[in-house]
Amino acid sequence: MAFLIGFKNKYMYYNENTLVYWNGDFVNARDAQIDLYSQTLHYGIGAFEGIRSYKTPEGTKIFKCDEHFDRLRYSAQVMGLNFDWTNEMLEDASYKLLAKNGLTNAYLRPLVYTNANMSLTPAKQSYIIIQAWEWGRLYGTELSKVMTSSYQRPNPKSLFVDAKVTGHYANSILAQQEAKLNGFDEALLLDASGNVAEGSGANFFFEKEDKLYTTPRGSILPGITRNTVLELAKELEIEVVEKHFKVEEVKQADSAFFTGTAAEVAGIKSLDDYEFPQDWEDSLGRLLAKKYRRLVTGAQAHDAVLV
Ligand code: PMP
Repeated sequence: MAFLIGFKNKYMYYNENTLVYWNGDFVNARDAQIDLYSQTLHYGIGAFEGIRSYKTPEGTKIFKCDEHFDRLRYSAQVMGLNFDWTNEMLEDASYKLLAKNGLTNAYLRPLVYTNANMSLTPAKQSYIIIQAWEWGRLYGTELSKVMTSSYQRPNPKSLFVDAKVTGHYANSILAQQEAKLNGFDEALLLDASGNVAEGSGANFFFEKEDKLYTTPRGSILPGITRNTVLELAKELEIEVVEKHFKVEEVKQADSAFFTGTAAEVAGIKSLDDYEFPQDWEDSLGRLLAKKYRRLVTGAQAHDAVLV
């Protein structure tokens, strides 16, 4: 049974023909290797990204490619990892990777990892792999039932929370596991001061009396999707307030949603035992979800497939 589960999961991501970009070459996914003495594996010192490509009228387009590779470079550098690749190199590799694997609507996962080093001194060498596979929306097409997590987001004085670093995701996984064990779909994590921070892998917004509210930078990963939503809201003349708020305030809200590359703009049904009263169909989140879909797909989306 364990074998079957492993087998099934593995082939969600790759099969015997899948190619990955690995340090300048395209190689079969089964042939790419990581040193088992890598600091990344033992201590969580690695930088990664989650990027989506979409089918558009002009062909396959990677959404906000530059922004993602800028953040990858930032994440690597704050962690002391060498980063010798340019955005142009990585963008070129990404498009080639999609074409070689016959992918259009896909998810790309670049990962920067280190050489063997079992001490806690900075690693001398960095390597990069880019993997790509077809991946549905993180929260599917249903509205999510969310739980206030008992886990806090990492303290910004302990780590670079605005960087996408492999080790930070131990916190996200604990929060997800807790939510699932309690019958919820996703977790909402607070910061060290008890303010709402974000989801385990997405930023959080709520709507109250025709305004949107979201957590300011500081204790969150400031998402590229969050930024896109802020731009779209501006175009639509929707007021967005970036401020700190508590769970109690969210439980007075009309509606709420998550934003993220994997999640896109995903509506939330409830937080703990509080059900958001506004019909998602009539919410600002739903309007922004449609706008977002149109933007990423070059205005070819059918609203009917959206949540
Ligand atoms: N917060 C966390 C913790 C995340 O993992 C993600 C996904 N990268 C986000 C927010 C959303 O970021 P983005 O919109 O750039 O995907």
